[in-house]
Amino acid sequence: MKAWTLAARPKGLPVDTDFALVEQTLPDLAEGQVRVVNRWLSVDPYMRGRMNDTKSYVPPFQLGEPMQGGAIGEVVESKADGIAVGTMVSHMAGWRDEAVLPAQHVQPLPDIKADPQAFLGQFGMPGMTAYYGLLHVAEAKPGDTVFVSAAAGAVGSTVVQIAKAKGMTVIGSAGGAEKVEWVRQLGADAVIDYKSGTPVAEALGQVAPDGIDVYFDNVGGDHLDAALAHANPGARFAICGMIDVYNDAKPTSLKYLARLIGNRVRIQGFIVSDFKDHEGFYRDMAAMLAEGKLKREETVFEGLDKTPEAFLALFSGGNKGKMLVKL
Ligand code: NDP
Repeated sequence: MKAWTLAARPKGLPVDTDFALVEQTLPDLAEGQVRVVNRWLSVDPYMRGRMNDTKSYVPPFQLGEPMQGGAIGEVVESKADGIAVGTMVSHMAGWRDEAVLPAQHVQPLPDIKADPQAFLGQFGMPGMTAYYGLLHVAEAKPGDTVFVSAAAGAVGSTVVQIAKAKGMTVIGSAGGAEKVEWVRQLGADAVIDYKSGTPVAEALGQVAPDGIDVYFDNVGGDHLDAALAHANPGARFAICGMIDVYNDAKPTSLKYLARLIGNRVRIQGFIVSDFKDHEGFYRDMAAMLAEGKLKREETVFEGLDKTPEAFLALFSGGNKGKMLVKL
């Protein structure tokens, strides 16, 4: 099998030489194991954090070892009860074309009529992040005005649609006219182009004259500050990601931080894996899908050799919807 390993720990934005494609021989199957041929790989912004040798909520990638990440594959050989050859499964042995895994490390895809790769996006980790972050962490409810950054990405585009389906007013932010138009088509009431030159705080003030009740943060920096500037009393912020600082840990100075106090804003960070029981998520999302309330877009790079390129493009906005690699 072929796998991408971490060849060096990046400084700033990763470069090609931080990754190395290696060939490894996989063992014969032991009892309770399956052999999976990967069809789809996920690349996600959080993987940048795993390239650093720092303590976090997931352990760092090890130098010289295959990297990990979400993947969808087909079971081609099985010595595990209950997992037949041909079963499509999701698992975390991504960044490679094939894996031998214990049965408990693979999950057969849920019974929802969606393409297999959707379980890496809207019906997988990014979709859960959107759903739990919006409805459980920020406790967004019908009538709220919700601001979401990186609104054309995997998580953000799902936040927009769930919020609209649940009767909220939605303001998105995205980079460039094409993405802005797409987020509007997803149902957003207003969309800011943060690359247009107008400061985000000013642009948000223009489209949200009555303020915002919820902020779903994927970006940090100027977007978080803009949300603070326009937060209504009792606003709730779900801090999901801060992609603006992943590559260089910029010190952020927030001009409007003190608004937290007077407006009693509640800010809470969260990790999607805090949520374990996904029955309600699948039921609710399947219903929204059936009602035509969920659209999905993917940006697909073809071939295992393109995986680092796809990953790096996340940091320059190279994706609309979920970034995927097809094998
Ligand atoms: P996306 O599909 O949103 O891809 C990243 C997008 O971020 C790019 O397309 C780009 O869009 C935007 N972006 C990149 N750099 C910047 C920048 N400096 N300023 C503003 N926007 C930028 O990724 P995901 O949906 O997978 O993840 C979104 C966020 O959610 C990330 O921060 C991620 O780390 C976080 N996350 C957190 C989880 C948790 O459990 N807390 C779980 C999953 C994701 P544009 O062209 O609009 O700039």
